[in-house]
Amino acid sequence: YDELFKKITAHAKEYGFIFQSSEIYDGLSAVYDYGQNGVELKNNIKEYWWKAMVRYHENIVGIDSAIFMHPTIWKASGHVDAFNDPMIDNKDSKKRYRADVLVEDHLAKLEEKINKEVEKAAKRFGDAFDEGQFRATNQRVLENQAKIDAIKHRLYTGLENNDLSDIKKLIEDCEIVCPVSGSRNWTEVRQFNLMFSTQMGSVSEEANTIFLRPETAQGIFVNFLNVMKTGRMKIPFGIAQIGKAFRNEIVARQFIFRMREFEQMEMQYFVRPGTELEWFEFWKKERLKWHLSLGLGEDNYRFHDHEKLAHYANAAADIEFRFPFGFKELEGIHSRTDFDLGAHQQYSGKKIMYFDPELNESYVPYVVETSIGLDRTFLALLSNAFTEEKLDDGSERVVMKLPPVLAPIKAAVLPLVAKDGLPEKARQIMDTLKYDYNCQYEEKDSIGKRYRRQDAIGTPYCITVDHQTLEDNTVTIRERDTMLQERVDLGNVSKIIAKKLKV
Ligand code: ATP
Repeated sequence: YDELFKKITAHAKEYGFIFQSSEIYDGLSAVYDYGQNGVELKNNIKEYWWKAMVRYHENIVGIDSAIFMHPTIWKASGHVDAFNDPMIDNKDSKKRYRADVLVEDHLAKLEEKINKEVEKAAKRFGDAFDEGQFRATNQRVLENQAKIDAIKHRLYTGLENNDLSDIKKLIEDCEIVCPVSGSRNWTEVRQFNLMFSTQMGSVSEEANTIFLRPETAQGIFVNFLNVMKTGRMKIPFGIAQIGKAFRNEIVARQFIFRMREFEQMEMQYFVRPGTELEWFEFWKKERLKWHLSLGLGEDNYRFHDHEKLAHYANAAADIEFRFPFGFKELEGIHSRTDFDLGAHQQYSGKKIMYFDPELNESYVPYVVETSIGLDRTFLALLSNAFTEEKLDDGSERVVMKLPPVLAPIKAAVLPLVAKDGLPEKARQIMDTLKYDYNCQYEEKDSIGKRYRRQDAIGTPYCITVDHQTLEDNTVTIRERDTMLQERVDLGNVSKIIAKKLKV
């Protein structure tokens, strides 16, 4: 996958999707900028999510809260005390790792080994092979699987009980079974708080340490009363928000998968206590439906129910996507109980309750959260869309098969040649279409080269103006994936494209 992933990241740069932050100064680790095509795709994803969550649900409204918030909020939310990752350094290589991820990586390698063994056996036995039976009877597979399960169990209990010394032992144990990192010269495991802090106020004595928010959710919780009252909201109802979040991730890996500055699209759904697990199931289904509507293929998604729950949750599941580097979390759905509102009630001293007219009583609502990473969604789309094709005439093309509704540019308007009055005609078309969609006018280079450039950024339709256009007011529309061209009346172009863009 490394080769493919390298190609995807290079393509993202070459075609103006994503640049390394501060590149001319050799970059800033795990921070990225979105280029001219990237920002369009990103905005389209936001709009697609916002429509599905806010516009199509009458009982969900949006807000846009500030990144800076009162520091006590992060005390109440548990982030000051518990938003840590275990960190370990290798004394020889001087490399720093997230200790739990290191263990998980080791285990993944071990699992790969076992699967290879099973595959080999399948080849040997051919049709007669029964995987279940093989796993049940093969001593070595069984033993290794048991080792993996035991290590996983120790890892999660170690994390839960804050027993970091055991995690170090685990790393060493893993290396005996599967010596991958070579060296066993580790420091102790330490907790590392992921929040960035800064000072507010210009006079240093008065300076107050504040944090850059590590999630957008708290901005919703502290506005619960405001929105409930001013929006006259009745439970169940939701508040949605899209915005930046910041985490000082220990290891930055996998391009925009794990960034230090990223964007989240979150929705907190406030429900009557006791109904939260039904709503949790509802939102799991609803959110998966949203993902599937993008058409990236059902096989590329799976749920991962959490064994290890965060301090605020009584149920949690991830929607994982098959990235080029394997299945990884794309969205989290969490049943957060009354933890957050309850904590803010306690710390702020304000009553944060809802009066339920049906029950004739007041309570602190329970919360079901859906939290999706915008950048991870971007990466899922980008890696799924990247396609290298060999064409019938022996040539090759790279085409980004993005869902048309999300494509940065919907239509390119191209005069066949840059003379004979064709550019003028094409400009006229551009000037009417640009109010309906994001369009691009291009006249430089041969038409074939221009088609390839549009393919490479994922433009679903190319409108070509040729000499016949001047005679009968028709143009051709070329479809990105099939490369088929259809000649249509100019007057119908906008309607035809609108129809094609409907999902
Ligand atoms: P992970 O286990 O991968 O660190 P998480 O469980 O800490 O993620 P949440 O706190 O549930 O993530 O955040 C919700 C969503 O925000 C995630 O599903 C992910 O899509 C996104 N997200 C979290 N951290 C990052 C990051 N460092 N870079 C990009 N997106 C992120």
